[in-house]
Amino acid sequence: MANEKYPVEKSDTEWRTLLDADQFRVLREHGTERPGTSPLNHEKRTGQYDCAACGHPLFESSTKYESGSGWPSFFRPLPGAVSTTTDSSHGMTRVEVRCSNCGGHLGHVFNDGPAPTGQRYCMNGVSLNFEPK
Ligand code: FE
Repeated sequence: MANEKYPVEKSDTEWRTLLDADQFRVLREHGTERPGTSPLNHEKRTGQYDCAACGHPLFESSTKYESGSGWPSFFRPLPGAVSTTTDSSHGMTRVEVRCSNCGGHLGHVFNDGPAPTGQRYCMNGVSLNFEPK
């Protein structure tokens, strides 16, 4: 992880007590869940998606859509909810999306999303907790 500062800072040891192995690998080690594996792909209820690491509210269900990618996808985050950084890993230049509160890795954002933003926030479901409303 890059060493930017976030409001919530914890050691890897602390995060390991709070996250399960899959969550730790994605959120803290920039991992990617296998596509099609998240139960949140099929979540259609009204509610809010929060960071699975720190509970910070990230997305409203009204901005979720079916991208066909196999990962939960949104066209817009809540205001100020995420921060982005350039990610040059795996021989590609992509825009990484992190929780603005804890710096946890959420996924990437691409410019092939639907109206009104044209953006596709391609998220790892393991990084999100859904709260029905
Ligand atoms: Fe967070």
